[in-house]
Amino acid sequence: MEEKTLSEQLAEKLLYRQKNSALIMDDDAVMAADDFCEGYKAFLNGCKTERECASFFIAEAEKRGFKPYDPAKKYKAGEKAYLINRDKSVILTVFGKKSCAEGVRIAAAHIDSPRLDLKQNPLYEAEEFALFKTHYYGGIKKYQWTAVPLSLHGIIILKDGSSVTVSIGEKDGEPKFVINDLLPHLAAEQMKRTLDKGIEGEELNVLVGSRPFRSDSGSELVKLNILKILNEKYNMTEDDFLSAELELVPAFPVCDIGFDRSLVGGYGHDDRVCAYPSAMAAFDCEKPEYTAVAVLTDKEETGSDGNTGLKSSYFKFFLEDLARMAGVEGRDVMRKSECLSADVNAAFDPTFPSVLEKRNASFANKGIVVTKYTGARGKAGTSDASAEFMGRIRRIFDGAQVIWQIGELGKVDEGGGGTVAKYIANLDIDTVDVGVPVLSMHSPFEVVSKLDVFMAYKGFKAFFEAK
Ligand code: MN
Ligand code: MN
Repeated sequence: MEEKTLSEQLAEKLLYRQKNSALIMDDDAVMAADDFCEGYKAFLNGCKTERECASFFIAEAEKRGFKPYDPAKKYKAGEKAYLINRDKSVILTVFGKKSCAEGVRIAAAHIDSPRLDLKQNPLYEAEEFALFKTHYYGGIKKYQWTAVPLSLHGIIILKDGSSVTVSIGEKDGEPKFVINDLLPHLAAEQMKRTLDKGIEGEELNVLVGSRPFRSDSGSELVKLNILKILNEKYNMTEDDFLSAELELVPAFPVCDIGFDRSLVGGYGHDDRVCAYPSAMAAFDCEKPEYTAVAVLTDKEETGSDGNTGLKSSYFKFFLEDLARMAGVEGRDVMRKSECLSADVNAAFDPTFPSVLEKRNASFANKGIVVTKYTGARGKAGTSDASAEFMGRIRRIFDGAQVIWQIGELGKVDEGGGGTVAKYIANLDIDTVDVGVPVLSMHSPFEVVSKLDVFMAYKGFKAFFEAK
């Protein structure tokens, strides 16, 4: 081997350079990452809404000895509990050797993803088609949601108070739904619209049927026929839509992307690509030093408001319950706690290089992204992690061979985005964003690197197990 020149040696010692993880990890580690992603892919295929994710995590937790959280109980090191908030948010806890009075270690991910919600009175007939009106949930590019197969998920509370769970369009042989778009031949006027108005909110109408109920008289027979089918299937009438939560999501399964199978394409990586690894890290955590808490929350995509979102007090109340058990005040626990806000960041896309600043952007395959600050226009709205806390996370990750990088969401003044970080930091908890870089974020088909998904798991686990 040729000897390195002085400048090469000096560069190695002094410069910050981030390599592709595939050049750092050995064959076994790459294989472990690919294996880990098989579990992740199965999870994504089975869980397309926050409720489905919540019930998945509860079922997996129960298999691993987690019990429903009892605020009156005194927990010992190694005991495991789960708390479910209104079937949409989950808190997984592994009690540590130290008292909760010493603070806890939190990973906070969200299990809601951008999608289309049915309006409250959704079903109508137009020109002998039956359609659903929708209101999109989260930030989407609306035009991406037309002409792709959609499935319908959710819950209907019937007049008598009983509930019906809905999932249609996922299994082989089940029908799916679609939002139609205009053919290019007749789209000359539409094509003149700006991209954000290419498809407008009130044009996100979902085709759900076209065959009329056979009758000599009556109007809206296609709609009537759909209601007849819904009544037979779900025992519902039209007014039961008024007390329902029904969500349309892409109906296709996830798959590997690329000849080398290095990436996973599918719906809902944001933020299940952090939720799954953080839950798995909590599951694999035995008797940590500090109590490990994985929060899998709802409502991040609409701003974290509401009683299943992290702007509400449900999580704070849980920490106060832990404090009471430890004989201290909630604020004593929060002040000493640490949190990884586990959420995705934008991966650098060579097709759209201008929106990111390359020296401070995150890249697929270069490990999990630690984002010191979010916000926009002068960092407005960021919690901005301290240098001290960045230093601590850096030592934890480096000490556990976790490959990580930094990443700012976009150029200065290009746009920006927020996470739950600030809501947790506002509780007086040291918090920083850590997550997986994603391509085509918020589209029906997002893409992540398998090696990064595995690094998320390793990173959250190292954080939970840190002294
Ligand atoms: Mn997110
Ligand atoms: Mn998002």
